[in-house]
Amino acid sequence: RAKANGSDACELYKREMRYQLHEKFHVENDLRRALERGEFSLFFQPQFDLSTNQYCGEEVLVRWDHPVEGLISPSKFLSIAEESGLIVAIGEWVLKESCLQKKRLIEQGFPEVPMSVNLSLKQFLQKNIVETVKNALQESKLPPHLLELEVTESVTIDIDRTKGVLQRLLSLGVHISLDDFGTGYSSLQYVSQLSIQELKIDQTFVRNIGKERQSEGIISMIINLAHYLNITVIAEGVETEEQLLFLKEHRCNKVQGYYYSRPLALKEYKVFLTDTLHL
Ligand code: C2E
Ligand code: MG
Ligand code: MG
Ligand code: MG
Repeated sequence: RAKANGSDACELYKREMRYQLHEKFHVENDLRRALERGEFSLFFQPQFDLSTNQYCGEEVLVRWDHPVEGLISPSKFLSIAEESGLIVAIGEWVLKESCLQKKRLIEQGFPEVPMSVNLSLKQFLQKNIVETVKNALQESKLPPHLLELEVTESVTIDIDRTKGVLQRLLSLGVHISLDDFGTGYSSLQYVSQLSIQELKIDQTFVRNIGKERQSEGIISMIINLAHYLNITVIAEGVETEEQLLFLKEHRCNKVQGYYYSRPLALKEYKVFLTDTLHL
C-alpha cells in the first residue's frame, strides 16, 4: 500500500515535471518570438539628488508588451530568459535601444544626466561584453559618461575576471553601479577592489525604515562604506516621506522610487520630466 502511494506520488511528480518543462519551452519560444517581433519596450524611472532635490538620472527597466497578456514585468520572464541564454540577446537589445533613446532625449533638450542600464550576470560574463557596450555607444553616439551599467554582487563569483572586465568597461568611459547591494554574498574586501562608482542599496532595507532597527543599521553602514570608498550611494524603492527623511539624514546621495515616480513609458516619462523641470 505504502509502495503504491509512493509510486503514485512518483507518477504525479513526473507528470508535473513534464508540465513544467513544457511550460518553460513555451515561454522560451514566446520570448524568442517576442524579440523578433519587437515586443519588448523600455520604461524609465527618474533618480533624484538629495542634496539639491534635482532630477539627476534614470534607470531603464525592460517590459514585455505581450499582444494578449499586456505588459509583463521582468520578474515573470527574466529567470527563463537567463536559463535559456536568451537574456544575452534581450540584454543587447536593451543596451542598444536605451542608448539610442537617451541620445534622442538629449537632442530634444532634456538634461545631460546619466542613464543606468541593468546587466545580468550571464550578459556580463559574455566574452564580447566590452565590445557590445562599445558598439551601443558608437551606434548611438551617446557620450560614454552618460551610461552607467548596473551589475549585482553575483559578478564577484569570478573576481579576477570581473576586475579585468570592469577595468575595460571603465576605460570606455562608462560608470558602474553595484545593484541590490546588501542582499548578495560579496565580501567587503571585494567591493573595495572593484572599480565601481556607485553602490545601490536594495529596496528590502529601504522598505524596513522605521520598522526594523537592523535594516536601518545596514543602510547607515552601506552609506558610510560608500563614502569611505569615495563612491556615490543611491537607495531604490523609496515610497514614503519617512524613508526619504531617514536617507537624507544619513547622507545618502540619491534616491529612486514610487515616492517620486513609477517607471514610465518614454512618452509619459517625457511629460513627467517636462512638468518636474518646468521646461
Ligand atoms: P532592479 O534593477 O533592482 O530594479 C528595481 C525594481 O524595483 C524595478 O522592478 C522597479 O520597477 C522597482 N521599483 C522601483 N521603485 C519602487 C518602489 O518605490 N517600490 C517598489 N516596491 N518597487 C519599486 P522591475 O522593473 O519589475 O524590475 C525587476 C528586476 O528585473 C530589476 O531589479 C532588475 O534586476 C531586472 N531587470 C529589469 N530590467 C532589466 C534589464 O533590462 N536587463 C536585466 N538584465 N535585468 C533587468
Ligand atoms: Mg537595477
Ligand atoms: Mg536594484
Ligand atoms: Mg532590487
